[in-house]
Amino acid sequence: MGRQKFDFNKSKKQADKELNGGGGDDRFWSLSDLKNRKSYTMKFVPSNDGTGSEMYVKLFSHTFEYLDVNGKKRKYFGTCPTTFGKECPICQGIYDKDWWNGDDDDKALASKYGKKKKFLTNVYIIQDDTKPDMNGTVKMIRMSPQAFEKVLKQISPDDADKNKRSFKEFHPYDIDNSAEFYLDFTPAKNGNYPNWSESEFDRELSSLGKDDKETDAIFETAFDLNKYLDELLEKSPTNESVVERVGHIFDDEGETYVEDESEYEEEKEVVKETPKKKETVKEETKVEEKEEEDDDIDDSDFDDLDDDLDLDEFD
Ligand SMILES: [Zn+2]
Repeated sequence: MGRQKFDFNKSKKQADKELNGGGGDDRFWSLSDLKNRKSYTMKFVPSNDGTGSEMYVKLFSHTFEYLDVNGKKRKYFGTCPTTFGKECPICQGIYDKDWWNGDDDDKALASKYGKKKKFLTNVYIIQDDTKPDMNGTVKMIRMSPQAFEKVLKQISPDDADKNKRSFKEFHPYDIDNSAEFYLDFTPAKNGNYPNWSESEFDRELSSLGKDDKETDAIFETAFDLNKYLDELLEKSPTNESVVERVGHIFDDEGETYVEDESEYEEEKEVVKETPKKKETVKEETKVEEKEEEDDDIDDSDFDDLDDDLDLDEFD
C-alpha cells in the first residue's frame, strides 16, 4: 500500500487563522501591522464578473459586545442583512426604539449597535513591506469609508475637487490608465480612532501591467464581488437565530415598562405619536436619514480593516 498523500493546505489556513485572528481567507489582504504608521501602495481593480460595470460593493455589519442571557460578555459580529437588501432585526430594533432621535444615551446605543459600512473592492497590491509575498497579487479588501471617500471623489469629482491644483482626471478602476493609491494608516492613539485620511492617489497614470497582455492577466485574477456576497448570504444566520442571540439588547426598557402597566401604556402612546408610524412615504424618508447617520458613525470604525468576516459566532 502506498503512502498516504498529505494535504497541507488546511493546516496552513488554520495557522493563518490562529496568527491573524481572521477567517484565514486568503482571498483577502489583511494589514498585519496595526501598531505603526504605515503606507501601502496599490491600485484598484474592478469586480471580475463579466459585466464590466461593477467596481465595488457596500457591506454593512454589526460588531459589538453584549452580555448574554447568563451575564457573560460576548462579541457579536455579523453581516447586516441590509447588505443583501433584506430586513435586519438589529437595524429594525434600533429604528423601533427610535434611538437615533433619542437623548445622548439612546444615541450612544444606536451608534454602538448600529450597522457599520465598509467598501469591498479588489486591489492590486504594489507595495506591502510587512507582507512582501502579497506584492503583485490581486486581493479583496474591506475599506473604511474614510479612505474610500478619496476613491469616490476621484470617480465623481465636484467642481471644488476639479479646481484643486493637485487634481488629475482619471477613473481609479481604469486598468489601462489609473494612478497608484497610497493607503495611509495612522494607528489609534490616546483614545482617538485610527486614521486613514492621509491616503491619496499618485498623479502618474499607468496601466496595471507593462502591456495589454499582462494587464489582462492581472485582471483575470480579480474576484467576482457579487459572488462573494452570495457566499456571505448563504453563510448568514437566519434573523430568528440573530434575535435569539442578541435580541435581548432591546429588552431592558420593555421589561421596566411591563412592571408598571400605566407607565407601559403611556409609553405606547408616545410611540404612536412619533411621525414614523404615520405613513409609508415618511417612513421611507426616515430610513434614508437613518442611513446618513449610520455613515457618521462609520468614522469611528476603522480598527478592523484587517478582520476578515468572521461568522464563527454562529457556528
Ligand atoms: Zn442591520
